[in-house]
Amino acid sequence: MISFECVSKFHEGVAAITDLNLHIQAGELLVLLGPSGSGKSTVLKMVNRMVNHDGGEILFKGKNINGFDVQDLRRRMGYAIQSTGLFPHRTVAQNIATVPRLLGWKPRRVQARVDDMLTLLAMDPKAFSHRLPHQLSGGQQQRVGVARAMAADPDVLLMDEPFSALDPVTRAALQLSLKEIHRATGKTILFVTHDIDEALLLATRIALLNQGRLVQVGTPLELLQQPANDFAADFLGRSDAGLKQLSLRPLAPHIKALEGAPALHTISHTATLKETISLMATHRVSVLSVMDEHKAVLGQVQAADLLEN
Ligand code: ADP
Ligand code: MG
Repeated sequence: MISFECVSKFHEGVAAITDLNLHIQAGELLVLLGPSGSGKSTVLKMVNRMVNHDGGEILFKGKNINGFDVQDLRRRMGYAIQSTGLFPHRTVAQNIATVPRLLGWKPRRVQARVDDMLTLLAMDPKAFSHRLPHQLSGGQQQRVGVARAMAADPDVLLMDEPFSALDPVTRAALQLSLKEIHRATGKTILFVTHDIDEALLLATRIALLNQGRLVQVGTPLELLQQPANDFAADFLGRSDAGLKQLSLRPLAPHIKALEGAPALHTISHTATLKETISLMATHRVSVLSVMDEHKAVLGQVQAADLLEN
């Protein structure tokens, strides 16, 4: 969907991005991860030409982005940022309708789309459509920002630290919403963050940047298990990398047949190893019954089995 081929960018002679090669497939949720100043936002802004690259080529659907009309390119890529960029004097509905209106959609279609977007982001259209941005909480503003970015059904969503300014609870809720939206729509999403936990939770693949260079690209588990160098190992948090892996690993391969009566405490077969171990610790037990989606006992899991690969 998007390819960077040996792309570089200089700011006043200083390299911000050096020789970037990265290929993003349709349907990926690729997270650009790295410390502040590593070039994440620059990469994102080069995609929709808010920043022009100096060397190499960027392809969108196989075509050089410089060959697109720039407005057309931007309308095909939703863009959501930390400060939301909502128009303060326009209602929630008018904000979300921005690009559909520019594209000349009929009012009835625009209205239906606004309602759908608000519903998708768990906001009641009746309650929120006519509010102004300042009449919303930070989390709600951010939801409207995401709704606006998605309103015209763009091919790609570009998101630059959209949840960074939110409190942890709101942030976690929005992360789950985004994960669900990605699962349901199959959209290609390019998501920037400096937060390793956010990256591990959301990404299908992570591209790790440092000082304008791509350090490593791979699945969250690949980065945790096989960091490419010391920087990657440090950044991913050597100390609790083991714990982080547990939250990415499913319980399913560790389920064994029932031995005797089912254990009192139960866990879903879709749980992660981290959830399984937490539950064992909470109840001070070493065996749990594993339930399927109909709450029928599938088998059991023992603490000792979890350490097997
Ligand atoms: P990140 O998003 O990872 O924090 P940025 O992409 O914003 O990093 O910035 C990468 C580097 O480019 C930084 O060193 C930053 O200071 C520099 N930079 C970014 N934008 C500009 C600009 N408009 N003018 C000069 N330097 C810039
Ligand atoms: Mg940035």
